[in-house]
Amino acid sequence: MKTIYVDMDDVICDFTGAYKEALKNNPDIKYPQSQLDFFRSLKPLPDAIKVMQYFLNFHNTYIATAPSIYNPLCYTEKALWIKDHFGTDVLNRLIIVPNKSLLKGDYLIDDRIDTHKQNEFEGTLIQFGSKEFPDWASIIYHFVNKVK
Ligand SMILES: [Mg+2]
Repeated sequence: MKTIYVDMDDVICDFTGAYKEALKNNPDIKYPQSQLDFFRSLKPLPDAIKVMQYFLNFHNTYIATAPSIYNPLCYTEKALWIKDHFGTDVLNRLIIVPNKSLLKGDYLIDDRIDTHKQNEFEGTLIQFGSKEFPDWASIIYHFVNKVK
């Protein structure tokens, strides 16, 4: 069993899709993510919920998300999102952390490598959306076949 941290925005939920949509509807807004309900209403990315269920069941898994400094409500909305999609118990697995190098563990799955010190994480950084790991299917394949 490994200790795995999984990012939320653009890994479990579609931040960029909602950001673009909000900007289309309101082109003058400076920070679309600052709006009420922005974080709670994000759509899950394909396969994210299913694969997260696997990780939560078979590994020591946490959701590690950086807060948006443009929306202090995101602390609550991110928690509600996890409750909506995974249930209350998984709130015990939610960490809101602006500096991911503070986390202790084996793997960090994140779409960004240098916005929140992801590349200083002590374990292995798996970049979601990279050539090697373009989607959840490639990540689950890796964990099932190559991680003991
Ligand atoms: Mg992200």
